[in-house]
Amino acid sequence: MAQWRNWSGSVVATPAQLARPRTEAELRAIVAKAERVRLAGTGHSFMPLCETDGVLISLADMEGEVEVAADRASVWAPAGWPIGRLTEELWRAGLSLANQGDIDKQAIAGALATATHGTGRSLGSLSTFARAFRLVLADGQVVECDAGIDKELFEAARVSLGMIGVMSRVKLAVLPGYRLRETMLRAPLDKVLEDWDALAEKHRHVEFFVFPYSEHVALKILEIVEAGDDPVEKDPGRGVFQAVCDLAALSPRMAPTLQRLLTRAIGSSQRAAPAGRIFPSEREIRFEEMEYEMPAAVGAQTLRAAIAEVRRLRLPIIFPFEFRTVAADDIWLSPMNAGPCVSISFHQYAKMPWREAFAAVEAGFRAGGGRPHWAKRHTLTSADVLRLYPMAGRWGEVRRRADPKGKFMNAHLRELFAFSL
Ligand SMILES: Cc1cc2nc3c(=O)[nH]c(=O)nc-3n(C[C@H](O)[C@H](O)[C@H](O)COP(=O)(O)OP(=O)(O)OC[C@H]3O[C@@H](n4cnc5c(N)ncnc54)[C@H](O)[C@@H]3O)c2cc1C
Repeated sequence: MAQWRNWSGSVVATPAQLARPRTEAELRAIVAKAERVRLAGTGHSFMPLCETDGVLISLADMEGEVEVAADRASVWAPAGWPIGRLTEELWRAGLSLANQGDIDKQAIAGALATATHGTGRSLGSLSTFARAFRLVLADGQVVECDAGIDKELFEAARVSLGMIGVMSRVKLAVLPGYRLRETMLRAPLDKVLEDWDALAEKHRHVEFFVFPYSEHVALKILEIVEAGDDPVEKDPGRGVFQAVCDLAALSPRMAPTLQRLLTRAIGSSQRAAPAGRIFPSEREIRFEEMEYEMPAAVGAQTLRAAIAEVRRLRLPIIFPFEFRTVAADDIWLSPMNAGPCVSISFHQYAKMPWREAFAAVEAGFRAGGGRPHWAKRHTLTSADVLRLYPMAGRWGEVRRRADPKGKFMNAHLRELFAFSL
């Protein structure tokens, strides 16, 4: 038995076998033979999505390369590559992704499987960039599907937490390569929320981080800029933040004071580089996270209520909330389905307790009609999924057809998607 852990350390699994196929033929043979299979990207999910006592497959060693389409509007890429490897390869070919999240360490398939997103009112999650999949199904058979060929399978696979099949290669929409300038500013929370509509309209990407015991935010704006050779700066504040987190873990009652001090230290900074190097930030300090995608109309009030709840209960939180926008999509299991949404993330330092704090804040997220990020902490039940996702029933039919014996399910997924068994 091997041991596997997720990034934050909150999920530990002991699969019977950890398999790292190098070719699609090996992958097919492993899937066909196994009784129970889960797929792991780089383990950045907080929910037990990769947990299994069967075979856990990683595609990190799979051979393959990026193929650019003749019209340069899409590429086929190995699904197990980290996003950062893809974006470097794209940049060499004069291409970029339309948007990315906070880090680029995730496997492409891991990000697509969970509707991973960045910020931008007109920009959907990475799953909306998928144009076709090459999938290994439960019986080991390989299929290619897109919006024309086996459309139902394609629709179901777009956000599917690895329950439809193993993505071995994916076709993704891309843009001509572009550069971004990141600007970080300190700004009052009230003013930012008041101006949010205008800010989100004006800037291709805007988001902010707010510590719940502070009245100010760190506002982050990304804009497309022409070529230049500005250096990419490393975040100088990381060492300080690590020390503050450790201090809060030792003395949780100091969290509010420490947060106010941290907020006072937020300065202004700028950096510019190829888009794929500006989207990701360093996230070395481990945390646990919950995130809900809220109807855009209730985003600001939901954040205010969450902050009020943290303060009322004097919860010892040392990480900030993150507030972003994501465009609507039509993906059956996407939290942004029929959006648009604002995304509110709530984090806790991994060495500090998080369950009680997450429960207190989740109640408000759910009352406001939010749907959780599948990879991040939530307490949805199968009945909730059916209620919140009008297309869940149809998704379940496709899942049953693709994997009638539930080979790709684990305990968590059997419970959450019980309606599809
Ligand atoms: C530090 C940090 C920053 C983050 N930032 C963001 C962010 O900005 N925006 C955001 O939306 N999310 C963010 N996340 C969440 C993260 O993007 C998701 O958890 C994502 O799924 C992680 O990708 P992974 O490769 O680690 O996948 P894993 O966590 O390993 O797996 C995720 C899912 O993908 C499935 N899967 C993996 N490989 C395959 C495959 N080949 N075929 C089919 N299914 C597969 C797995 O079975 C599982 O269900 C962040 C997480 C962390 C820890």
